[in-house]
Amino acid sequence: MSITSPQSTAISGGPQLPQQRFLSTTIPGPRSKELLARKADSVPAGVGHTVPIAAVAAGGGVIIDADGNSLIDLGSGIAVTTVGNAHPAVVAAVQEQVARFTHTCFMISPYESYVAVAEALNRLTPGRYAKKTALFNSGAEAVENAVKVARKFTGKQAVVAFDNAYHGRTNLTMALTAKSMPYKSGFGPFAGEIYRAPTSYPYRDGLSGPEAARRAISLIEKQVGAENLAAIIIEPIQGEGGFIVPADGFLPALVAWCRKNGVVFIADEVQTGFARTGAMFASSGFGIEPDLVTTAKGLAAGLPLAAVTGRAEIMDASHAGGLGGTYGGNPIACAAALAAIDVYENDALIERAVEIEKILFARLEEMQARDSRIGDVRGRGAMVAVELADPDTGAPDSALAADIAKACIAAGVIVLTCGTYGNVIRFLPPLSIGDELLHEGLDVVAEVMARI
Ligand SMILES: *Cc1c(COP(=O)(O)O)cnc(C)c1O
Repeated sequence: MSITSPQSTAISGGPQLPQQRFLSTTIPGPRSKELLARKADSVPAGVGHTVPIAAVAAGGGVIIDADGNSLIDLGSGIAVTTVGNAHPAVVAAVQEQVARFTHTCFMISPYESYVAVAEALNRLTPGRYAKKTALFNSGAEAVENAVKVARKFTGKQAVVAFDNAYHGRTNLTMALTAKSMPYKSGFGPFAGEIYRAPTSYPYRDGLSGPEAARRAISLIEKQVGAENLAAIIIEPIQGEGGFIVPADGFLPALVAWCRKNGVVFIADEVQTGFARTGAMFASSGFGIEPDLVTTAKGLAAGLPLAAVTGRAEIMDASHAGGLGGTYGGNPIACAAALAAIDVYENDALIERAVEIEKILFARLEEMQARDSRIGDVRGRGAMVAVELADPDTGAPDSALAADIAKACIAAGVIVLTCGTYGNVIRFLPPLSIGDELLHEGLDVVAEVMARI
């Protein structure tokens, strides 16, 4: 393998890349530094980056940079390249479509692949009732449209989101998102009629699922009123908020209350969807059937595509022309999604996520047994995290999380942090990673934890 420049086209991604961690320079190397300097001059500082490299190829479980470094990828570009980066089936589908036509605008001249993606999502999302799907470009846009549809259907306006929630960076979704820094601070005023309820956070609140649900419902009834409430929106497992897995019974109790009170239950599965949690959708893992489901990240294996899928009568509440967008359901993104969905369904990716869960829990619990700063190990499937806290006080330790992530990246392993307090290290490997490489990545994490 020879990498001559960041612009080199000689290197292509995909699973044929050598599956190894290999550092030819310190990170960032000279070529990456060059690009990061250009970035600093040309891109606003508000657009940050976690890993200081210039990526040139990726596949299997590695990302290659312009200096020839090969890093183990335990982040999947935030749970996007779940089938693997540059998966050959996705590449072929995209190449086929891009040569055929790149865009017509589905609202002008419809095409088959959009409809096929809608049919697949109607079939795959939880709930055996009649469903419909509309496609968009990003997770935030899907969330915006789920709220639009829920308001139109119910004729009500209020929306409840939860503590630690993350739903995006547009104006409405900033309002739904809980965390001020970095997502909201200084960017207001925010959209109105958004209310926040306490979530279920077993490690920190010690409540059972039904207790946590009663706490949330009582607050909603007192402060909002079901007669004003269009929807509640919740991530079945909170992503950016810290991979918080709610206690058993929490989500079913919320769903039951919504049904009784004419409130639309929206599951934001933008991060948890598509085999990531060891089920096609995390909602199924909790035994719930949401009225609406938002999806994006894993849907099209890296191409921008998002969806709202839900009960046909809710989705059909909007007048003709009320939903859409210039690019929503772009044909190239739809081709990628159809190829990715075929991989999810037919290449045993759900089983692979369950295998990865076993490896992650075994290794991380082993680290926890030796290191009292690891307060909690939690997650489902290939979406697992450790929460770092002061062993005596339980205070979140965000500095430690940042130091560990930084040292792992310097050692050639990409790990991401998350959490309302930034004290959670999350593991989101692509499901295409091999056991050996995953173990090597976790060896590095263990070594770094021991050292710092
Ligand atoms: C990432 C994310 C979003 C926003 O998706 P974008 O494509 O970045 O707009 C919304 N909800 C959840 C749960 C997410 O993880």
